[in-house]
Amino acid sequence: MPDLLKVAKFGGTSMADASAMRRCANIVKGDPDKKIIVVSATSGTTNLLSEFATDITTEKRKSIAKQVRDKHLSICRELIDPGTVTGEIEKLCDELEEIASRKQIMTMMLRDEILSFGERLSSLIFCSILGEITGENIHLLDAREIIITDNNFGSAEPGIEIISVKCAALLEPLIPDKRVVTQGFIGSDKNGVTTTLGRDGSDYSAALFAEAINADVLEIWTDVTAIYTTDPRVVGDARPITEISFDEAAELSVFGAKVLHPATMVPAIRKNIKVYVGSSIHPEKPGTWIVKETRQKPVIRAISLRRSQTLLTVHSLDMLHRHGFLAKFFQVLANHKISVDLVTTSEVSVALTLDSDLNAPGNQKLTEKVLGELRSFCEVNLEGNLSLIALIGNNLDTTAGLSGPVFGALENVNIRMICHGASSHNLCFLVGEGEAEEVVRVLHKKFISVL
Ligand code: ASP
Ligand code: MG
Repeated sequence: MPDLLKVAKFGGTSMADASAMRRCANIVKGDPDKKIIVVSATSGTTNLLSEFATDITTEKRKSIAKQVRDKHLSICRELIDPGTVTGEIEKLCDELEEIASRKQIMTMMLRDEILSFGERLSSLIFCSILGEITGENIHLLDAREIIITDNNFGSAEPGIEIISVKCAALLEPLIPDKRVVTQGFIGSDKNGVTTTLGRDGSDYSAALFAEAINADVLEIWTDVTAIYTTDPRVVGDARPITEISFDEAAELSVFGAKVLHPATMVPAIRKNIKVYVGSSIHPEKPGTWIVKETRQKPVIRAISLRRSQTLLTVHSLDMLHRHGFLAKFFQVLANHKISVDLVTTSEVSVALTLDSDLNAPGNQKLTEKVLGELRSFCEVNLEGNLSLIALIGNNLDTTAGLSGPVFGALENVNIRMICHGASSHNLCFLVGEGEAEEVVRVLHKKFISVL
């Protein structure tokens, strides 16, 4: 076993083409401790496959299968020895084409099978490139043998214990002498049927591998150099964060820019695994360390902006001095697997936010069925075009005099909802989409740029 054991994950943009893959391979080569390498599909491929899995004609499916084939074969052509891997890529693409020709009803199960091709293709090629660059014999492991999940296709829940058993049996024996390349995002249920962990789930996969193998470090190599104090596209003087705590990062991944999949921090926290976020394009630039305890604990570390939020408010006079209403209300949401972000309540009303665009075509979350069930016992109101702004930091719940300067700076802004107090690491509120960026700029200037 190496002194330190690291799991390194490379995202879609890091797998974009042969030269991006070579860059990643060189990052791995430079560090003998990077033993397990988890990769995403090449950029754009999962989107193509998602389209393939919608209700489109056989012709369109075949044309997508061809695009996927061409894209991967063109990367193969840049290999020094394209022979073996090209054959395997062709074989996988034949399988995909075969699925395209089938007259079959699209199910979530089949969709996961289709989506899995992205990571299966990219990992095959990356394994070869890594072999060429390091001169080592790299082992390609099928993540579906390790990441065992339930059968909630489309966003399957991993089984932590079985994953650790599989890992001990199938992965651990390999790593004293070899590096292992495997796929993010995909797993399988107990019957061996392919599942996925949900879009952008590769970070989560990597964290699950890191947990199961007792890694010391989990590295997430992506297309940004670090986690920033806020989105640099919104605020010019946003700064990279050198070190941030697990708790703050967990809040940021839920409410903030999508640098990390929100579930990623959960295994890292469970096993106290340090997480590093860095850029595979500029690996020399310092990234962000996410650790249990940070040396500095500013009250406000970062300000995040999440767009396209839906506010659902329900109102029922029956709630007055009654019990059971909240349970009934949340039961409806739970039955439909609707995940809620923020909640506030008053005696006869509940307001909550969902991370979804009310006006987006095919917004599947709040279907007429869900709304109908809610309307049978309360008044329902929906509002879209909202953004969620979160101040992330430390001791936000116990710092006296914080809300005055925060909300004082926003005296002309209509704030639709405020959530404060449940977490010491976050204070957040909803504003209209049109005002959100300006609100972030004002707050960043007042609380972060001045430091
Ligand atoms: N390839 C998958 C997606 O695009 C998983 C990932 O990249 O994390 O959603
Ligand atoms: Mg990604």
